[in-house]
Amino acid sequence: MLIIGSHVSYGKHGILDSVEEALSYNANTFMFYTGAPTNTIRKDIDKDIVNQAHELMKKNNIDINNVVCHAPYIVNLANKSDLDKWQFSIDFIKKELIRCDELGINKMVLHPGNAVKISKEEGINNIIEALNIVLDGTTNCQILLETMAGKGSECGSSIEEINNIINGIKNNKQIGVCLDTCHLNDAGYDMNDFDKYLDDFSKNIDLKMIKCLHLNDSKNERGSHKDRHANLGIGTIGFDNLLNIAYNDRLKNVPKILETPYIGETDDSKERIYPPYKYEIEMLRNKKYNKDYMKNIREEYGR
Ligand code: FE
Ligand code: FE
Ligand code: ZN
Repeated sequence: MLIIGSHVSYGKHGILDSVEEALSYNANTFMFYTGAPTNTIRKDIDKDIVNQAHELMKKNNIDINNVVCHAPYIVNLANKSDLDKWQFSIDFIKKELIRCDELGINKMVLHPGNAVKISKEEGINNIIEALNIVLDGTTNCQILLETMAGKGSECGSSIEEINNIINGIKNNKQIGVCLDTCHLNDAGYDMNDFDKYLDDFSKNIDLKMIKCLHLNDSKNERGSHKDRHANLGIGTIGFDNLLNIAYNDRLKNVPKILETPYIGETDDSKERIYPPYKYEIEMLRNKKYNKDYMKNIREEYGR
């Protein structure tokens, strides 16, 4: 069975709200941030809520091993120009791993980092150094390096760069990869031939290292280095390609996570925003594109 979900919010009741939101989309997995992705303010974890969330997952056949956390994207392990900030990023990622352990979550996606005003090589060396400090063997949760679009000075936009980071990590049991189809497309990889990408990947990195896949269409052409996600079938990758990727045999046991935009989020209309995930999940499960799905979402959620 397809393991499919979306990013969900970590609400007032933390991960319990995340599970409930995922269930409302008929998802069998989900991804969450332990707070706002744009800041590093975090609340303590309530054991009681965690237990309730675990129960609810069990009851609904959500395997917790398929659930992933995402680190905030404002920490930057590649930038060592301000040592205090770099150390703060290291400490924060470490604390996120401890939080994941407390939540019972064993995968955390991380944007490798931005090589601001330095070469990518130097940026990658800083990332390796930082991750070797973070992954000191005292925590359990794995870090999954996300493949990036190559916007600005982003590290990790090619198979080679991801491989270079992995090769520098001493504790290699705690490192993995998260593919993002929008990022791959924007980085220049051809999503019309995903098997060719996996072939190239496997020449450098064991396919077993892929532990999560972000399934997004892209608003921009291949190689644009932009990183703007689009709803399924409404971008340059297209529904059929995304469907093929979702059902690729070599990634059968890998959880697929939608990070597509909310409806109304990207246009300037005064429209309220609605989550597309229930409908996108349904299309993937049915293996059939519903050309009216945007309309259906607006009808269900509001007007
Ligand atoms: Fe990400
Ligand atoms: Fe992503
Ligand atoms: Zn993105």
